[in-house]
Amino acid sequence: MDGSTAIKARDGTPVAMDNHWMPFTPNRAFRAEPAIVARAEGVHYFDPTGRRILDGSSGLFTTPAGHGRREIAEAVGRQLMELDYTPSFLRGHPRAFELAGRIARLMPPGLDRIFFANSGSEAVDSAMKIALAYHRARGEGQRQIFVSRERAYHGVNFGGVALSGMVNNRRTFGIGLPSAVHMRHTHIPENRFSRGEGEHGADLAEDLARVAATHGGESIAAVFVEPVAGSTGVLVPPKGYLARLREICDRHGILLVFDEVITGFGRTGRAFATQAFGVTPDLITMAKAITNGAQPMSAVAVKRAVCDVVMNAAPEGGVELFHGYTWSAHPAACAAALAALDIYEGELLFERAAQMSAYFLDQLFALRDIPIVTDIRGIGMLGGFDVAPMGNPGQRGHLLQRRLFEEGVHIKTTGDAAIVAPAFVMEAGEIDRMCETFRTVLKAL
Ligand code: PMP
Repeated sequence: MDGSTAIKARDGTPVAMDNHWMPFTPNRAFRAEPAIVARAEGVHYFDPTGRRILDGSSGLFTTPAGHGRREIAEAVGRQLMELDYTPSFLRGHPRAFELAGRIARLMPPGLDRIFFANSGSEAVDSAMKIALAYHRARGEGQRQIFVSRERAYHGVNFGGVALSGMVNNRRTFGIGLPSAVHMRHTHIPENRFSRGEGEHGADLAEDLARVAATHGGESIAAVFVEPVAGSTGVLVPPKGYLARLREICDRHGILLVFDEVITGFGRTGRAFATQAFGVTPDLITMAKAITNGAQPMSAVAVKRAVCDVVMNAAPEGGVELFHGYTWSAHPAACAAALAALDIYEGELLFERAAQMSAYFLDQLFALRDIPIVTDIRGIGMLGGFDVAPMGNPGQRGHLLQRRLFEEGVHIKTTGDAAIVAPAFVMEAGEIDRMCETFRTVLKAL
């Protein structure tokens, strides 16, 4: 089976499908029934035959301003002709500094030191290393334990996998990972069908106090949480939960890290979830929408006080942080990010996300009357719903995703949960069409 039917090379000759080992994909099943997208514009993908598919995921939470934004493409093209590459080791370029300043302005006061990487996973591992470096610089090198949560997703590099709470991502490898202890997740039955933050469960933050009591607060380096756990089904925190985590971190000198790879850049209706929930962490990781999906890029925003400790511990004239990537602050990515931020700000897209959210969540929560829908959650332009399992866990969710694609709607599912993340530019009529398609397909399942 080489499944060479669907794909053509640029010269029109058929292309075999078995050389590309696709990530997080049942590759053998995919080759038998390939789902290919060949073009994208606005809130739609198009398959090679020109069939239109509504993008209910903004790519993969990457593309809130819609696909095919000419301003970004042109900025990248211009940048590549002006300066295609320079290593950020020792050689700066203007756009990297400009972008760092623009991102700093979106951050809570004090989180204004910006470290660049290329993916969410790299941002998470960078944040872990910055936390370790900070504690060592203060003479607290014994702080080696990380705390995160069940049902967390923090990427796939060694650090991020250790933090994550998704069993398949860990057990495939069965190898030594950095030391991480998992608190419980906050997806509790008492909060079913809660819109925004649930009323129940703030006390789950006390898990951190228990971990500190068991392992010693002085041995914990940092706590990593997604303010809203995205990839595992949109788990919005209960009211007061994040503030309690902050308090416990402060009590024990533990750094609090918000992984805002999904929630960053307007997804919750505010620039970052830190503002939506009114809790300020010490570090924030971001990726995805930083370039509206047009270039790979990520960043870690670090509190100035944390950065200063690391800087001042290094010998005069010496490198402060022995960490970085060939592509850190790649000029094309910086140009894409600056153009994306111009669009977000020029078109007031974060404000638009806040406004459209009410309509989007109304339509999503209207699915509540369908018997197989067992929970619905959401905040901003991010929603999730669960379907009752049928057969093996995840089977019905997978079927839902496939049927929706056949019916012309693309969304991501995880297990038996659906994740809906429309572009902020999606119109009410398109939200209607998407939710009507959910209804039709859910009823047929
Ligand atoms: N952290 C979070 C919260 C994420 O949602 C993701 C990706 N979905 C990652 C990290 C990893 O990002 P990437 O796939 O770009 O490595």
